[in-house]
Amino acid sequence: MQEVYTRFGSEIAKGLKRSTQAQANTKCWPTYVQDLPTGDEMGKYLALDLGGTNFRVLLVTLKGHHDASVDSQIYAVPKDLMVGPGVDLFDHIAECLAKFVAKHDMRNAYLPLGFTFSFPCEQVGLKEAMLTRWTKGFDCAGVEGEDVGRLLHEAIQRRDDVEIDVVGILNDTTGTLMSCAHRNPDCRVGVIVGTGCNACYVEHVDNVELMDPAYKRKQKQVIINIEWGAFGESGQLDFVRTEHDRKIDEKSINRSEQLFEKMTSGMYLGELVRLVLVQALEQNVIFKLSSKRQEYADILRNNVDIFETKHMSEIEDDTFPEFANTRRIVKQLFGLEKAAVEDCQKLKYICECVARRAGTLVAIGVSGLINRISDRRVVVGIDGSVYRYHPKFDAYIRETMHKLVKSDKEFDIMLSEDGSGRGAALVAAVASKTK
Ligand code: BGC
Ligand code: MG
Repeated sequence: MQEVYTRFGSEIAKGLKRSTQAQANTKCWPTYVQDLPTGDEMGKYLALDLGGTNFRVLLVTLKGHHDASVDSQIYAVPKDLMVGPGVDLFDHIAECLAKFVAKHDMRNAYLPLGFTFSFPCEQVGLKEAMLTRWTKGFDCAGVEGEDVGRLLHEAIQRRDDVEIDVVGILNDTTGTLMSCAHRNPDCRVGVIVGTGCNACYVEHVDNVELMDPAYKRKQKQVIINIEWGAFGESGQLDFVRTEHDRKIDEKSINRSEQLFEKMTSGMYLGELVRLVLVQALEQNVIFKLSSKRQEYADILRNNVDIFETKHMSEIEDDTFPEFANTRRIVKQLFGLEKAAVEDCQKLKYICECVARRAGTLVAIGVSGLINRISDRRVVVGIDGSVYRYHPKFDAYIRETMHKLVKSDKEFDIMLSEDGSGRGAALVAAVASKTK
């Protein structure tokens, strides 16, 4: 824990410096979001949210007094769009947006739009974001190296039935930070533990060498998108990575990339459990009394993703000796009626080890940020399916934070309410306020 903590800290320092950023895993991109919300923000905004399992279009009404309401629509992103030509993906986004706008009778409203695009981007301003690499199973041709704001704009132009003003492009971690800061002014860190994993925090502009100096005159702070999912790509985590981590990486579409993310996020945690379980079956340490052990191992080996991350949450929610969820899942996987208590305990233990390690790693990163920030009291905004739905993830994170956060600091963690939507609206709102 201490060693990872130290390595994490030096990687972030590297990412912030012009002369070392190219070698850093954690790119620490300036987001150009410099104003945190006051709570007084008002108005109607559109938001797009792309980067997890679903794509969403939202209409956000900021009402002042720290209040907001959100009306949203979820659209599936078909698998072939995730790895097809980028133009098709952006056409799909524009189509969903047009449908949403038509349905809400807003064709002539000219609403400002914030685009939550949750992938690593190099930003040169609030509205220009060059995708540096795809993550989380996306791999659309023709987007890496391009400005996703421009791609969205062009897709909207091609349709000719909506007129939208894209005023900001942001990461989901930034949205999370903004939406929590809207409610609690002490929020300085935003974290996502969902399909992917990442964090952002508020840094002093003097420490941010890669930012256009013109922006440093107006405001002394800026949100930094760390992109910590990439941590470990120079071997810093090899001493704690296991054969299962290596297997996950080898089978992924982004080999050798996002190694920290592959140990911490929802896209991979269930897979890790699956691989550990296969090994436990092969070594005859689980389901020992079952004559069908080989069959179970085959089922798991032959079906990638059959053990879902959400199963971990359900299993860790179980109580001894009923193990209702665990037994249901085991039955669903293997057709085994009423698994033995001992096997349920073992399966739960495997889930706990994988989740606890993820929580510990996330907490190491969060603690480093809190210790780096000069404020004595720091609130951390968090969101993402793993954090939100896992019954113990919050406790695992806090346990490690209590060991690592300096004793003169005070911290709290708050769950973000719709960071990707409300956060996008707030970025759009503060952007128009400072113009
Ligand atoms: C992306 C980040 C994002 C995170 C959580 C990662 O794969 O690189 O930009 O914040 O997932 O969605
Ligand atoms: Mg690629």
